[in-house]
Amino acid sequence: MKPSQLSTLIFEDQYAWKGDLDVFLPPSRVTILSQKTGIDEERIKNLTFYTSCNYFYHQTNRTTQVKWVMPLGVRTRKKSFGLQYCPCCLIEDGNQPYFRKNWRLGFITCCLFHSVQLHDKCPKCYHPIGFKKPKKSDNKILYHPVNMVHCSKCDFDLRHTKYKQVSKEEYEINRINFLQATLGYGQAGNLEFNYSNLYFEGIRRLLSFLVCSPKGESTFMFLRAELGLYQPYHREILGHNIEPERLDVRMRRTGLLMIYHLLQDWPENFVEACHKSNATSHLIKSPYLEFPFWTSNAFFFRIREKKYYSCEGEKKNIVEYFEKRLKKTISLKQVTRLVHYYFFKR
Ligand SMILES: [Zn+2]
Ligand SMILES: [Zn+2]
Repeated sequence: MKPSQLSTLIFEDQYAWKGDLDVFLPPSRVTILSQKTGIDEERIKNLTFYTSCNYFYHQTNRTTQVKWVMPLGVRTRKKSFGLQYCPCCLIEDGNQPYFRKNWRLGFITCCLFHSVQLHDKCPKCYHPIGFKKPKKSDNKILYHPVNMVHCSKCDFDLRHTKYKQVSKEEYEINRINFLQATLGYGQAGNLEFNYSNLYFEGIRRLLSFLVCSPKGESTFMFLRAELGLYQPYHREILGHNIEPERLDVRMRRTGLLMIYHLLQDWPENFVEACHKSNATSHLIKSPYLEFPFWTSNAFFFRIREKKYYSCEGEKKNIVEYFEKRLKKTISLKQVTRLVHYYFFKR
């Protein structure tokens, strides 16, 4: 049967299927699943990303979301490419193909076993991969496990996807990410991390700046040219304030290749890229965000501050203010000294 039907039968709730069940399972559903499968509750609970994300995301326990896990979009009608696949893995699975847990993670873009790039859409009709409405073989009454690896829109067998060999750089950044996410520590370029979530927090800020924010556009363009990447870039399609896990796989791949380059000589390559693309620290700063220590030094002390110039109107107001306050006429030069006195000496 369809996964949605199965979920309705198990949970006796047709809306249970709407959330991303692999991200968070409410305790009541864990209990039901345990009763119906005979599998220990603790074990079921630990299958979700919510309880197993400590190495890549610091949980606040205020929401059930887990950063870096790509939304499947079961909840919304909006197209989202939340599930990736490696055609070689699916072929090797034989009659019981399944989708790997780490294919759901935004910082993974290739298969480390087969050294091929992951795909996040049907190569024939570009429909996202998902089990929302799986297709059944025409002459069959029941679903078969292999229906899962057919495009739910055009029925294309995803195992026939032409696979593309991964570059050395993409392989390396995926290996770093995979090790950091499974071990909880590790090396990344010239940096050593005792706590991998600090690594992930930092590369998240970098991806947000370089790829997701319009403020990082010039640095993105600079790095794209420098690294010879041919990623099309359309600001209007990306949208504002998009999060890294909502980007499609090609965009994430490009962003991660840039990060791999930057990590080789952190922070020198980054500081240089910002200088050459005229990016100043105020473009990266945000009062609402925290930055892990290894990025903040580069972000805020090594990159130029934007110089602020006051306009004529502002200057005039300041002169008037001092004249009123000191009850005498004063020159602009004196005002400069006074401003300095009031702003910095006290
Ligand atoms: Zn594979
Ligand atoms: Zn298709």
